Amino acid sequence: MVTVGPRLEAESRRLQTAGKALDAYMLDSAGVFGVGLLLQKSHRIAEEEAAERGWGVGAELAPGQLSGWSIAEQLLVGQLLDVAAIGVSVTESGILIPQKSASLMVGIGPEYESSEVRSPCEYCDVSDTCRFRH
Ligand code: SF4
Repeated sequence: MVTVGPRLEAESRRLQTAGKALDAYMLDSAGVFGVGLLLQKSHRIAEEEAAERGWGVGAELAPGQLSGWSIAEQLLVGQLLDVAAIGVSVTESGILIPQKSASLMVGIGPEYESSEVRSPCEYCDVSDTCRFRH
């Protein structure tokens, strides 16, 4: 689980209320970018842990990402991890609070062939048309 914390969203809401919609949007976008950087950092941790053992890594996966895995199961992930320790909570419907947070699971083991964490988009049903493919 990664998060940029609550302050960015609070400031974005303040800017929005003050009529500074563009500033709020830009700050929000910076938050999304920050979550992406944290996910990449998490990839490196998984890759290094695997490499130390001579293993490989799987794809980055999370509830709500691919069809067949409901976002509501973020709740289960939140229960398995001590997400409160990093200031994150999960709503009944699986929304992470702060919203600039993300969960990810990466398999590591001797059967995985890749040394780099793969994108979930490689396994997604809508990857041919998705504008968020990465
Ligand atoms: S292709 Fe789009 S919907 Fe599918 S996992 Fe990637 S970003 Fe998500």
